[in-house]
Amino acid sequence: MKNYLWVTIILIIGISSLFYLWSGKSENNSLSLEGWEDKRTKMVEQQIKKRGIKDPLVLQAMQEVPRHEFVPENLQNQAYDDIPLPIGYGQTISQPYIVALMTENLQIVPGCKVLEVGTGSGYQAAILAQMGCQVYTIEIIKDLAEEAEKKMKKLGYHNVMVKRGDGYLGWEEEAPFDRIIVTCAVDHLPPPLLAQLKEGGKMVIPVGPPWSVQSLWIVEKTEDGITTRDLGAVRFVPLTREIQGE
Ligand code: SAH
Repeated sequence: MKNYLWVTIILIIGISSLFYLWSGKSENNSLSLEGWEDKRTKMVEQQIKKRGIKDPLVLQAMQEVPRHEFVPENLQNQAYDDIPLPIGYGQTISQPYIVALMTENLQIVPGCKVLEVGTGSGYQAAILAQMGCQVYTIEIIKDLAEEAEKKMKKLGYHNVMVKRGDGYLGWEEEAPFDRIIVTCAVDHLPPPLLAQLKEGGKMVIPVGPPWSVQSLWIVEKTEDGITTRDLGAVRFVPLTREIQGE
């Protein structure tokens, strides 16, 4: 009888601890699909629309791409917050509003060919893919490039090509591009990128000193040369020239 009582007590403790662990996990990271969708709706309403982003294609893509899939698992519950987040290797995924601002200013037309320099988590590339672009994205850190490529496959973004390399040099074999987006900071416009931009094309790029504040430029290539417009202050990790992770 006594043994029976002990077995019952141990079983109750075991089952309650399992339940506790499971409920803790679901509270932090494993929201239901609707739960993540609600978070995305709030992000789009409060962070993106309120700050003046209007392009319906951008708003729809931000509503649909599962941003939490692009951040480390232990930070998933912050994926839709109004902040950039670390993605490992000293790099970051940009704040949602900055992604929207850069994308809107590219004036994307479905079907256009876009080069991204700085794949990072792959989130920006997925947004462009969701909008119907042919995306070519370059990442200098080997592990990040490989992880991004796996993610694109897993989430079904078949219109994204990921290459590991130095994006300063662009992607010669695939040039010219209708649009170019650079998501790491440079202190000058890289000549190879200007050369690989189509006439009539646009490039958005943070220009300024590394590890400080840069200006987000929208550069347009015309038959007479280039024009630039300043979209405001931003902070990006620097573009580096060394291939890492050999
Ligand atoms: N667009 C990313 C955020 C990029 S963070 C996202 O959506 O998550 C900037 C990225 O640029 C980092 O991953 C960094 O490794 C990469 N980077 C830095 N210098 C580079 C270069 N020369 N070529 C390609 N990628 C570079």
